[in-house]
Amino acid sequence: MATYTKKQVTDLVHGELDWDSLHRMLSMPKDKERYGQFIEVLQEQVSWKDRIILPLGPHLFIVESAKDQALVTKCTCGHDFGDYRQNWKLNALIHVRDSEEKMSEVYPKLMAPHTEWQVYREYLCPTCGTLHDVEAPTPWYPVIHDFQPDLKTFFDWMEMPAPARA
Ligand SMILES: [Zn+2]
Repeated sequence: MATYTKKQVTDLVHGELDWDSLHRMLSMPKDKERYGQFIEVLQEQVSWKDRIILPLGPHLFIVESAKDQALVTKCTCGHDFGDYRQNWKLNALIHVRDSEEKMSEVYPKLMAPHTEWQVYREYLCPTCGTLHDVEAPTPWYPVIHDFQPDLKTFFDWMEMPAPARA
């Protein structure tokens, strides 16, 4: 099992890891230290003190609040999207591309989906405007809850103590 330096994990997070190392990292069994290294690199990128538990995207994290140990979804800018078990998208700004005009902002003419069949929903942070996710559903489809981790099992699996309120 390969182990990696903090520099390599930092390069991975920043999208700058060389291809050979990235390929080895993806295809080999994961080392136990990886989670700690990864979280350490992510934690250094944010200005707040809440402990990052799990990333949901490049700028979106499940964190343990330094104030009361609540587990919430948080943006890099500090915006709190609420309890991690609830769908954070319901507390985001939502921009829906549901017309030819709105689709033409991201597609060449005649290359976009017909918006009676497919729309784009863009989920943005209400504080900083970061685009956290895009869905491409049929217009009537409910807002998709992508991921609700079982944190207790995850930390059991890693043989680490789970957050107090997991
Ligand atoms: Zn934000």
